[in-house]
Amino acid sequence: MSLRSRLFSRRDPYARDGAEELFLAAMRETLEKNAAGSDKYAEILRREGFSPEMLKTEGDLAKIPPIPTLYFKRNRLFCVPERKLIVRAASSGTSGNASEVGFDLSSLLIGFGALRRFFRFHRVTSIIPTNDIVLGYEPAKHNRAGAVKTAYLTTKFAPALRREYALKDNGAGYDINIDGIRKALLGYAKSPFPVRFVGFPSYMFFLLKTLEKEGISLALPARSAVLLGGGWKEFSGESVDRAEMLELIEARLGIKKERCFEFFSAVEHPLAYLKCACGHFHIPAYSRVIIRDTETLEPLPEGEAGLLNFITPLVSSMPLCSVITDDIAIFGTAPCPCGNPAPYFDLLARSGVSGIKTCAAEAGERLVDR
Ligand SMILES: [Zn+2]
Repeated sequence: MSLRSRLFSRRDPYARDGAEELFLAAMRETLEKNAAGSDKYAEILRREGFSPEMLKTEGDLAKIPPIPTLYFKRNRLFCVPERKLIVRAASSGTSGNASEVGFDLSSLLIGFGALRRFFRFHRVTSIIPTNDIVLGYEPAKHNRAGAVKTAYLTTKFAPALRREYALKDNGAGYDINIDGIRKALLGYAKSPFPVRFVGFPSYMFFLLKTLEKEGISLALPARSAVLLGGGWKEFSGESVDRAEMLELIEARLGIKKERCFEFFSAVEHPLAYLKCACGHFHIPAYSRVIIRDTETLEPLPEGEAGLLNFITPLVSSMPLCSVITDDIAIFGTAPCPCGNPAPYFDLLARSGVSGIKTCAAEAGERLVDR
């Protein structure tokens, strides 16, 4: 069993005891694989004066040259032959400005296993069949956006009886399917099986507002759940809107806030983070977070806002060991009242905030040009 497999197969995703050494060893293992599989990446490491054996303590993790996600929007950087990439996904973004990522079988199996354990740990997985409302795109051949795959995958953590999409494939593009969603929802409400909502928060909010306007209040079956992730742009950091959303969910659908799960994930960092009752994204033992200055990319002390840098040894097919997203976050270690002992990050703003993108773009250019 590889060190990476051992790290990701631990039952409690957050338990750090004994996992620190394993984490560093797994990082060295994947970094070596990445460098051996890509001359271009080996060259980046050399140029930055870094080699995997330099990783001796947690403090050394910041030395791994972090690659901005923007780099992957402009460059293809695979560490295995392309025929070995089982799943390819693109980040959401306008065409021509999406990163393409590719995962080989080992990365997929390990990642999927970790996700399954993560969802089971948080009691999101269920064997009871569900009726699903996907608040996102229907999977289609013409759309390879990672968000589609994530939403589709998430619906599989409980066996789906039926599935209705907010954006329906018409062969060439998408049609907004508000009527279909409303109809499906009213039908689902009469069924004894739980209902699952999966997708973008902004769509969920829109649906709730529509129900409110029409005076519709449902009491969906027990164990119904709301799973939200991605595209939180409009609401990020706005606790009022989050609270309002939770209230609306309970009032309009009869789903309590304990059954509302808010996830964070990125195409370039395909792991899930779950927002706790206190609003923090706790960090599992198989990843680390460093917050970096938006200008200099230097690591910032706890409590200061900067660019979110994820570190994980999950992916062997691409150099995703240390990636900087263009999201703004804060790192924290203070004991959280929710009881989860793991450190956490708070998301302040998701990508696209003016001024920030430019800096991350520049960092990307720097890596490419030198
Ligand atoms: Zn917490």
